[in-house]
Parts: sequence; structure tokens; C-alpha cells
Amino acid sequence: MSEPHAAQSSALNDFMDGLVRRNPGQDEFHQAVHEVACDLLPFIAEHEKYRDAMLLERMTEPDRIVSFRVCWTDDDNCVQVNRGWRVQFNNAIGPYKGGLRFDPEVTESVLKFLGFEQCFKNALTGLPIGGAKGGANFDPKQHSDTEIMRFCQALMNTLVHYVGPNQDIPAGDIGVGQREIGYLFGQYRSLTREFVGALTGKGVSFGGSELRTEATGFGVLYFVKDMAERLDRDLDGARVAISGAGNVACHAARKAIELGAKVVTLSDSKGMMHGRDGLDAEQLATAQRMKGEHRCSIEQVADELGWRYHEGAKPWGVECDIALPCATQNELDGDDAKRLLDNGCWLVAEGANMPCTAEAVEAFQQDDAMSYAPGKAANAGGVAVSGLERAQNAQHLVWTRDRVDEELQRIMREIHDRCVRHGGNGDGRPVNYRKGANIAGFEKLADAMLAQGVL
Ligand code: GLU
Repeated sequence: MSEPHAAQSSALNDFMDGLVRRNPGQDEFHQAVHEVACDLLPFIAEHEKYRDAMLLERMTEPDRIVSFRVCWTDDDNCVQVNRGWRVQFNNAIGPYKGGLRFDPEVTESVLKFLGFEQCFKNALTGLPIGGAKGGANFDPKQHSDTEIMRFCQALMNTLVHYVGPNQDIPAGDIGVGQREIGYLFGQYRSLTREFVGALTGKGVSFGGSELRTEATGFGVLYFVKDMAERLDRDLDGARVAISGAGNVACHAARKAIELGAKVVTLSDSKGMMHGRDGLDAEQLATAQRMKGEHRCSIEQVADELGWRYHEGAKPWGVECDIALPCATQNELDGDDAKRLLDNGCWLVAEGANMPCTAEAVEAFQQDDAMSYAPGKAANAGGVAVSGLERAQNAQHLVWTRDRVDEELQRIMREIHDRCVRHGGNGDGRPVNYRKGANIAGFEKLADAMLAQGVL
């Protein structure tokens, strides 16, 4: 990659200096904006219609952030206090849309980076949905089912004032699955006395969409399939290293196995399990059940399946063709990237949001033998099926699983094509999916903002 032009790099520095000054200490948010600004500032400078509209400055300032107290009583009748947030980033192309994350580590910076990325991701899906994110510093793993229910009800007592089917439609993310969405939806319905699609990721018996649970993981593999095809490579027999063992990781693994690939790792925050021959569908189902329903560790799963367990290790040191980081932000750093490249890995697609650090992305982008796809493109399948759930709710209809799957495949293919259109170099070098995703998402959002005036 050539050194950026001096004027471009000084524009980037000036822009980032301002952003850091306005948002002190929010490292994750700075990182997400930097990744976008690298591609967009030169693009904006080349296009007169975007040049003087301060679009990137406007896009990096959320419409609003609501932060609120969530009070509830635990099973011992003790009062607990948590903090909830909703970051409503941009609704120029549709109502705010994005997940809720329950995680003790959640901060405003994390939710701002996620909300910012969501604006581009949602624009890429081609569906009319704006960007948002929210959550709370609450750890569902530490609480009973009844405590989780009371927490969700308490959170919705405030969130109800800010969400609605045409206003803001939350869904799940880390720590928020179908169970939590069920409790949140129940409270919303009870408070408003309306049965409407104000949340997605609902159970199928009360307005949820078929395939929503599988959508993020399956979507990653549909995207990977298109990437591999472009490279004239085959997924059949390809060794796939996956991190995480949650919803995204397990469904990515399931689709990878269906497509003939070998899933050689799964992991959790304590360590990873490795098997050269790959998981079969039955072993994966066991892993998923043990992790999901019985809250087992990957160490226990490895033990049950007779796989090797590596305490404290990440999957990125194993020999693999494809790496799918599906756990959380910044889980794959510059050293991990180097190890993957040294081991012959030729494709990385992000199942999680921003799992690769800036150094890792840089290392991937510098290597012509590597194709790297950012989360805002590769993991957009989840929010895409959320968009389809919203459409079904508005139509008062339920689509078949096959229909949703067909739509998901079409949307992932179109996202891939958009990335190629804007990120293809035409010089035999790999597609720059990061640049393609950033520019395609920006164009849609920017045109909508320009058309609607200075707001
Ligand atoms: N949390 C998911 C994401 O990162 C899904 C959001 C949604 O379905 O609204 O895209």
C-alpha cells in the first residue's frame, strides 16, 4: 500500500484530533471512526457534492444518547442499580435500529462505536433502517432467570419512552438473546397496550422471524462463500478457525460444516479447543447445547468431545485457511494477524463487531495473499433479518424459513457486490472490502442526509 498523500494524512490527523478532543477517553469510538475516516476523507475530497457539507463531522455526532438508571430487586430482595443506555446515532435512511448489549464491561464508548458502525452496516443491507445501539452494564451470566426478567422489565420501564416500530427498534447483541428480548417485548406490550414490532429477535410464536437466530452466523458464511469464489478458492475442505462459542460462532460453524469446511476451533474467554479433523454437526450441537443451555466452559466441552484444550490461548495460532473472529471487539491483535498470515490463512471475515485491532487490519490489508472483510459487511445478516422481521410485523404476515433464507442470501450477495464495486482495485490485488463497505455505506447515508437538508 502506498503512503497516503501528505495532504490526506494531515486532513485525517486534523479530523481525528477534533474527534478525540470532543470525545475524550473513548478509545473504541476513536478506533471505529478512524477506520472509516481513512477511506472516506480521500473519497469526500474527490467528490464535490460531499466536500463542504461536513458530512463526516455530522455522522460522527450521534443524534442523541439517553443514559438512565435501572433499579430492580434481586432474588434476595436486595435493591440493585445498573446503568442503561440507548445511543440513537442516525435515522436519515430509516428508524433507529441496532442491538442491546448486556455486559459488565459495556461503556458509552463501546456503545458509540457499535452505534456508529451500525449506521454503515444497516445502510449496506439496502433496507430502510438507521443506526443505533444500547445496553446496560449488567451481566446476565451472574443472575437467575427471574432476576433477568425483572432487570429487563425495569430497563423497558424507561426505554419505552424512546423506542417504537417507527422510531427505534432494538434487538439483541452480546448477553441479549431471545429470552431477554421476550421479557423486554412483554414489558413493552404491557406498558403500551400495543402489539407491534418495536423489537426484533422475538420468539417465532409472537412475531419473531424464522432464521433470525441463525442469521448473523449463516450470513457470515454466505459472504465468505462469495469472497472465496472471487478468489477461485473452494470452501470444501477449507480449515476454519472460529473464536467464540455463542450464537454467532455456533451458527457460523454450522453453516461452514454444511458447506464442507472443517471447523478446527471454538473458544471462550478462558481458552480455546482445537481439533485438526474438524467438528461434525453432532459434536457442534453438543458444544452449542453445553455452552448455551448449561453454561459450560469450552474446557468442559473439549473434555466431553475429546478435543485438545489450550488454557489462555486464542484460536489464531493454529493452521487454518479461514479465520472468523466471532467473539468481541479487539480480540485479534497485530501479533495474532501476523501468526495467521505466517500460517497461510488467506481469508478473514469478522463475525463480531470490530474484533480486529487497527494493527491487525493494517497487516491484513498490506498482504496481497489475504482477503479481509470487516464486520459491517460480513456480519450484516443479523440486522438484515431483523429488517425482514420488521417487514413481516408491518405486513401482519409470517414468511417461511426458505423465503427468509433466500432473502438473506440475496442481501449478503448484494452487500458483497457493493463492496467489490467500491473496493475493487482492478489491478489483480484483492478487493479492499473495508474501503468498499465504508464508501458504499457512506454514499447511501450521505445522499439521504444531503437531500433532507442541514440537520
Ligand atoms: N446486534 C446485531 C448487530 O450487531 C443485530 C442488530 C439488530 O438486529 O438490530 O448487527
